[in-house]
Amino acid sequence: MVDLSSQYHNIQRQIDAKFKEVLSSASFINGDEVKAFEQELADYLSVKHVIPCGNGTDALQIAMMGLDLKPGDEVITVDFTFAATVEVIALLQLKPVLIDVNPDTFTMDIEQLKAAITPKTKAIVPVHLFGQCADMEAILHIANTHNLYVIEDTAQALGADYVFSDNTRMKAGTMGIVGTTSFFPSKNLGAYGDAGALFTNDDALAKKLKSIVNHGMSKRYFYDRIGVNSRLDTLQAAVLRIKLPLLDGYAAARQKAAAYYDTAFQNCDAISIPKRSIQSTHVFHQYTLKVPEEVRTGLHEFLKEQGIPNAIYYPVPLHSQEAYKHFSFDSKKLNTTQALCKTVLSLPMHTELDDEQLAFISDKVLEFINNT
Ligand SMILES: *Cc1c(COP(=O)(O)O)cnc(C)c1O
Repeated sequence: MVDLSSQYHNIQRQIDAKFKEVLSSASFINGDEVKAFEQELADYLSVKHVIPCGNGTDALQIAMMGLDLKPGDEVITVDFTFAATVEVIALLQLKPVLIDVNPDTFTMDIEQLKAAITPKTKAIVPVHLFGQCADMEAILHIANTHNLYVIEDTAQALGADYVFSDNTRMKAGTMGIVGTTSFFPSKNLGAYGDAGALFTNDDALAKKLKSIVNHGMSKRYFYDRIGVNSRLDTLQAAVLRIKLPLLDGYAAARQKAAAYYDTAFQNCDAISIPKRSIQSTHVFHQYTLKVPEEVRTGLHEFLKEQGIPNAIYYPVPLHSQEAYKHFSFDSKKLNTTQALCKTVLSLPMHTELDDEQLAFISDKVLEFINNT
């Protein structure tokens, strides 16, 4: 699905030299590279504060801790996402309220969002799934009307731009009170291990988040609040600093691969190519097709046999997972997620795909479909 070794090969000299430098400095946690990366990412995103942390799941948890969400508070998010989004809500004993996504863009359904708000609702967590932004203009409007926090899960869409109806452009993750991201190796900006970050324009919240990531410490051995241990390693920051200036180029390589797939599949009725939102650029964390349920299983197996990696994100809706069943979600309201879980299929998508690989992959997809 990804080709991290070719990508490393292209920047190997820089990485290796920088690693040697960090190793000699022996400043492994919160070294100079971490502070430099904070600033460079803040500049790239045009956001006031970047708070690095251990991973994208922690980032979500720390965001909810920083906003002082309390047990029983309702947090609305989507059923069609990676488990981390719902996991942290449950861990903090908040109440997850799962709603459906738009079947074309795979992001939060606005009508269901409106219907899900109750007097106990405190926050909305839109997920910018597969690389494009949820309908943030509508979500922010609803949040303002009801006085709710918006926490943007930007783990899959770092670098995407959202365009408001007045043509203002903002980076994914910088529109809500707080945004979170992951630098897991296969994400669009990937470290060489676990890493994550939070973004905010709110000075007071930034200060709080900075203390929560480090045990709630205000100054050394003085603790103002309960925190966690979730820091960014200096070695990871060094990798991220080398890769950040390449991020837009990486997105362009992904968009080029997506355009190749689009053209290859445009005349095939059995395949729905991923629909682009009119308000967001798409940085293609995943290139996700929809095919009829009766075709999907066979296609998945056939591609595997041909040596073509492909994946189902996500095969089971979160509402019906063993771990979350006790919340008794109303599955009748989550039809789109159930249908998507049976019809989606993601093809290889990364920065190093060449035309020969893309031709091979798309030919094999079409070969299977035309013979079924
Ligand atoms: C990857 C991911 C996360 C979690 O990030 P980790 O760094 O793996 O903890 C959270 N939300 C979404 C949507 C993700 O894709």
